[in-house]
Amino acid sequence: MADTNKNKNEAQSFTFKADTKQLLDILIHSLYKDRDVFLRELLSNASDALNSIRFEMLTNQNVLDPKADLTIRISADKDSGTLTIQDTGIGMTKDEVIENLGTIAQSGVRNFVEAAKDKKLDLAQFIGQFGVGFYSVFMVADWVRVTTRSYKPRSKAVSWYATGEDEYQVSPAKMSERGTKIEIKLKEDATEFAEEFRLKNIIKKHSDYIGFPIFIGEDDKQINKQTPLWRTSKTEITEEQYKEFYRQVTLDFEDPLVHIHNITDAPVQIYALLYIPSKSERSVLSLRKEDGLQLYSRNILIDDYNKDLLPEHLRFVQGVIDSEDLPLNVSRETVQTVGLMPRLKKIVTGQVMKELENLAKNDVEKYNTFWGEFGVYLKQGIAANPLEAESVHPLLRFKTTQNLEEWSSLEDYVGRMAKDQKEIYFIVGDEPTSVMLSPHLDFFKEQGTEVLLLTDPMDPFMLMGLTKYKDYELKNVAQADVKASEKSDEEADVKKISDNDFKTLIESFKNILGDRVTDVQASKRLSQSIARLVDPDGSVNPELQRVYKHLGKEYEVPKKILELNPSHPILKNLLVLKEKSEMQNLIVEQIYESALLVEGLHPDPSSMVPRIQQLMEAILSKAE
Ligand code: ADP
Ligand code: MG
Repeated sequence: MADTNKNKNEAQSFTFKADTKQLLDILIHSLYKDRDVFLRELLSNASDALNSIRFEMLTNQNVLDPKADLTIRISADKDSGTLTIQDTGIGMTKDEVIENLGTIAQSGVRNFVEAAKDKKLDLAQFIGQFGVGFYSVFMVADWVRVTTRSYKPRSKAVSWYATGEDEYQVSPAKMSERGTKIEIKLKEDATEFAEEFRLKNIIKKHSDYIGFPIFIGEDDKQINKQTPLWRTSKTEITEEQYKEFYRQVTLDFEDPLVHIHNITDAPVQIYALLYIPSKSERSVLSLRKEDGLQLYSRNILIDDYNKDLLPEHLRFVQGVIDSEDLPLNVSRETVQTVGLMPRLKKIVTGQVMKELENLAKNDVEKYNTFWGEFGVYLKQGIAANPLEAESVHPLLRFKTTQNLEEWSSLEDYVGRMAKDQKEIYFIVGDEPTSVMLSPHLDFFKEQGTEVLLLTDPMDPFMLMGLTKYKDYELKNVAQADVKASEKSDEEADVKKISDNDFKTLIESFKNILGDRVTDVQASKRLSQSIARLVDPDGSVNPELQRVYKHLGKEYEVPKKILELNPSHPILKNLLVLKEKSEMQNLIVEQIYESALLVEGLHPDPSSMVPRIQQLMEAILSKAE
């Protein structure tokens, strides 16, 4: 910044910083579609300035023009192509003008310049969120003059003038009243913004809920409704307005998945305008730095990130809650202690849950998107809060042995159950396709019994709070006490290894595996698989074992029973091998470790590679 003139009563010239020059250059030369947002930005600044003076006057009456109405006035002159916006807000001193319009917000400037490299974004829309909204005026202006007088009683009026080139001028000005006047000489291709009807439309579209009256021209009729969007009746709001509000709050470039707008009078008065984003991850540009809802009371923002209005598992919800029933003196610090808060939470939670249930019913595709992004939050909610879990049950979705492609609800599953099925079966594992190979499923596949595939890392945690759905207990297939039908027993008998031989086999397994297993037994449930691992009675259940594993606790492979399939050809052939041969050793080890692997319990799968290599070498040497 170069100060080229030291005389206090004359104009001084300053140069914009390099980044700011770049920003102005982008704004002047890019063909942004949404140029009309400049008006929103200037009106939003006027509204901020009016808010500031209102706040100041709560404690300080010693201000310039204490009786002035808090308003915004717009006038336009089509012939000269000028537009003027004047507020009776807090105004600026000379130093403030230089700082606020000349030098500050450098990080915002840089971020905007950076984001503007993505030519696909119509970035003008979002300029306000970068903290550089004022500069958007250069999309439509040949020059801009800001004349302002601070609320401080002895302050002098000052004016700031720029054309969007390298320099701006600051000079003393004449202005008797408090506030800020912005005069804009419109570019030749922007004279539409000197048309009153056009201005009125823009205000309706972007600034209708500015909290101070806006007037145009000589007209004494207020243009804006002055009601915030969340207090406006649903029937008067367009889809586009809902989306725009969401963008204003979050700076999320993607449309929200759904919005929830409820105005309730009883039992408590509450205005809720909530959104479910379409992505669970906040973008780097996001304005929202934490979870939480904006909490208003009587139009005043009390808490920007309130976390007491929704349970943890709905913390992805964005938006505004406004209640007149909160006490007058409530603040961010005290709001937590307000007796009304638990009731508000109950109502707000109910509204979100109901909306999700409706979505699940009425728009399956959207709901699936939701589930893909936020399902894990709901599962976590069940784990953390088993008492409230029931309300989440209808929202859960699963892949199953019957349908690997689509999501099924618990209700879908129950609807498909055979008449005599009394339990809901599930299997835990790492991912659907590998879990489908689990020996625990042998029996269920044969019976045609559907099994839920719980392969999300959060699933084992969820199961801690999900033991029952309606009247049906959830049962792990690895533990389920199912009896193989008589018929399949008979069938199996045909191919079965004789009892004596099987005893010998079991002994070899026991010798080789030693105390790595608690026992080796014949299985009644296996058909396709060689072996499976099951838990001895009284051990920690398999879900919990996975929880421990995920939590990274000192994790030892729990000792299990190895069940062998008496009809499996590999075991039959194993008998032929000479006892205690090297080959038998290798195969038994591999059977055990494969069983560990499909169980998701193998501590170090790559350690199997040398053994597999040995086995290959043995096969190849036979083939020679
Ligand atoms: P932001 O509003 O995000 O701070 P802007 O670029 O829109 O960024 O405005 C920059 C600053 O200029 C504001 O923070 C404020 O200090 C000052 N300013 C702009 N317009 C006015 C106004 N009408 N009255 C008082 N100060 C204003
Ligand atoms: Mg602004």
